[in-house]
Amino acid sequence: MSRPKPNILVTGTPGVGKTTFCEALAGSAQLEHLEVSKMVRERRLYKEWDDELDCSIFDEEMVYDALEPLLEAGGCLVDFHSSAFLDEGLLDLVVVLRAETSTLYDRLERRHYPESKVKQNVEAEIFQTCLDEAREAFEETDMTILELPNDNEEHMQEALERVQEFVRSYQPG
Ligand code: ADP
Ligand code: MN
Ligand code: MN
Repeated sequence: MSRPKPNILVTGTPGVGKTTFCEALAGSAQLEHLEVSKMVRERRLYKEWDDELDCSIFDEEMVYDALEPLLEAGGCLVDFHSSAFLDEGLLDLVVVLRAETSTLYDRLERRHYPESKVKQNVEAEIFQTCLDEAREAFEETDMTILELPNDNEEHMQEALERVQEFVRSYQPG
């Protein structure tokens, strides 16, 4: 499907810096930032609740249906920790941000996450859960998956330049 501007998924473990990155990229590349976890909360795109972690479990179909019409127009930055429920036909690039264990630990502590949630997310990052999910979701496609470190300001600038270059050289069709 032809889109005037590309759609980019920015994924990774909570705390790797997706939202910060997307805000910077949305401004500089003139893309629309879709903060999916916020959409899930505000539009109640869930049917289940995780009592242990005290958070919602997003509903794949509800989230897909909310995103599809927006992505059809192109030029969207999808900011979300999950990717398996999305279609390669809706996306042009997948970016997986990564952070070192100690970096992520500090960021999540600063967020005042409960210890169990900090631990669960740090483990998910160590086991590269989000990266593997994206690789599996798009393994039979020619989707480019960029795994980029995001531990500090310098990393973020490099990642921004890389993705800005992708947006500049994007050819519709
Ligand atoms: P996510 O959306 O993936 O959960 P956030 O963008 O909310 O992550 O970032 C988590 C925390 O890490 C925030 O306090 C943010 O300021 C910080 N942060 C994000 N990116 C960087 C970076 N490149 N260097 C230093 N701190 C960062
Ligand atoms: Mn976020
Ligand atoms: Mn598919």
